[in-house]
Amino acid sequence: CGIVGYCGPRKVVPVVLEGLRRLEYRGYDSAGIVYLEEGKLVKHRSRGKLSKLESIIDSAIIAPSHIGLGHTRWATHGAPTTENAHPHSDCTGDLVVIHNGIIENYHSLRTELKEKGHVFSSETDTEVLAHLIEEYLDTDLVAAVKQAIERIEGAYAIGVLWSGMEDTIIGVRNQSPLVLGLGGEEGNFLASDIPAFLPYTNKVVFLDDMELAVITAHSCEIQSLETGLPVEKEVNTIDWNA
Ligand code: GLU
Repeated sequence: CGIVGYCGPRKVVPVVLEGLRRLEYRGYDSAGIVYLEEGKLVKHRSRGKLSKLESIIDSAIIAPSHIGLGHTRWATHGAPTTENAHPHSDCTGDLVVIHNGIIENYHSLRTELKEKGHVFSSETDTEVLAHLIEEYLDTDLVAAVKQAIERIEGAYAIGVLWSGMEDTIIGVRNQSPLVLGLGGEEGNFLASDIPAFLPYTNKVVFLDDMELAVITAHSCEIQSLETGLPVEKEVNTIDWNA
């Protein structure tokens, strides 16, 4: 299972697909990708291998988008179907979440959200998070993600993209791996593991548990969810070959 996020000058689809391929060693049963194009999220998902995903998004490979997320899923809640593949959306379709790990209390949250009128389209624990963020979202995505995180229990690494904040990816880590790649002119990356972005940068920041990253093409800001304060992180230079 793997997470890849990118924003920067390159076209996002090939960068994310290549990143997912470089995380294939982690194992997966389905895959998906999402990118922002003219203010709208475009999502493609498929059960099975990445080659299957690639075959349904042939034309998207040349999409000019410069911001997006990709995911390989190892199903824990819900069968390995296309409907259960990530990214998962909120009711509006304007917000997407990718997630590695397990949301332990998803069942009670799902019941609560359904009572509030949210309609679910998958069997995953992950989809609960998209709807929960939607529930808290007004204009401040970071605040909404923080409020949602306060409600969830379990292990997670997540990536969030919202069409209301077109230049930003949010990542959160708690007990599932998540690293940032600082590419300078090449843009910035979010991934489960370093090989995903190593062709573009060897400058890596390791997120710790309960840290949230706000990533744009030109900046990466990290804050602690425990203190609510910004955290200065060490930038490591990895000396392996891509
Ligand atoms: N629990 C989530 C699901 O079943 C994420 C699984 C993963 O880590 O890929 O969809």
